[in-house]
Amino acid sequence: MPVYLDHHATTPCDPRVVEAMLPFFSEQFGNPASLTHEHGRRAANAVEDARIVVARFLGVQPNEIFFTAGATESNNIAFNLVKDGDHVVTSPTEHSSVFRPAQRRDATFVDVDGEGFVDPDDVRKAIRPNTRLVSIEAANGEIGTLQRIAEIGALCRERGVLFHSDITQAAGKVALDLANVDLASFSGHKLYGPKGIGGLLARRHVRIDPLIVGGGQEKGVRSGTVNVPGVAGLGAAFRLRAAEMDGEATRLAQLRDGLRERIEAEIDGASVNGPRALRLPGNLNVSFERVEADSLMIAMRRFSLSSGSACASGERAPSRVLAAIGVPEALAIGSIRIGLGKSNTAEQLEMFVDDLKRSIRKLREISAA
Ligand code: PMP
Repeated sequence: MPVYLDHHATTPCDPRVVEAMLPFFSEQFGNPASLTHEHGRRAANAVEDARIVVARFLGVQPNEIFFTAGATESNNIAFNLVKDGDHVVTSPTEHSSVFRPAQRRDATFVDVDGEGFVDPDDVRKAIRPNTRLVSIEAANGEIGTLQRIAEIGALCRERGVLFHSDITQAAGKVALDLANVDLASFSGHKLYGPKGIGGLLARRHVRIDPLIVGGGQEKGVRSGTVNVPGVAGLGAAFRLRAAEMDGEATRLAQLRDGLRERIEAEIDGASVNGPRALRLPGNLNVSFERVEADSLMIAMRRFSLSSGSACASGERAPSRVLAAIGVPEALAIGSIRIGLGKSNTAEQLEMFVDDLKRSIRKLREISAA
């Protein structure tokens, strides 16, 4: 198998997480809504235990956490607060599951600077009397920008506007201050947990209008029998992140900085996209002149890489995020995203840069011929 360098698209489920999930498939298979018997109560206890772990990790109350099928669903639930006649403020670099719902509403997309940062002052100026929601992500999945969500949340609170943050790429990677956040979306598979499970943080004062109605599970926020193995896995994943996140962040940032230094020193026409500081530890995004990322990834089959957001795969247009930070189209098509994670080592990255140099040289020779 190739070396995996695409941890923003997804992460491997930690074997300890899988272990924690297994009993809930067949032995303890109860429906957590079946409180009339022990099978159901055990499942319900597992779900509530996980809720406590997640809440503690995020620094909120357990009754502010609602399990969903992932961050796409959570983002859509948050945007369902916005009705006809309401206005929203968001940014052009948000994940499609925020960007697309925003496009269906009266939305102001505040500009980002050349490193992808939203200026809180621009958010303040964009707020109108009918602004219902401000939504700014905690971290960008392509260029790693860590937004100033505490500051943005504070000004939203001052103005009495709800603040939502998509924390999917940041949760479990960097410390987050969610004190001023009214709503937040997260996903299991980005933090070494399972796919198809995630959650919505919604403060008690927020009146959710559910997208899926039915049996009223999750206090009516998300009907449907709760995915108990998934929830147990999500809880286990957060528990592990609490113990391991800080150490891993330091290690990944060092690996990433070493990688960047070698690329900048050894490859002509390479430019790094995104911030120097205030960046996701495992993220690097680089453009190469006179190279197409698609050809580069074929040449470098020994490494699993991305040329943008995997969630946007199938779209051949250059990345919306790179366009927003002013990367010209000719350079954007020569951009790759490297997403480092737990399993990556310095040796792998040495091999990676060697292969990158060789592949770029070859591709440039072919295109010049
Ligand atoms: N938001 C961000 C920032 C993401 O990176 C992703 C996944 N690429 C999502 C939302 C969607 O998450 P999920 O796969 O859980 O629907």
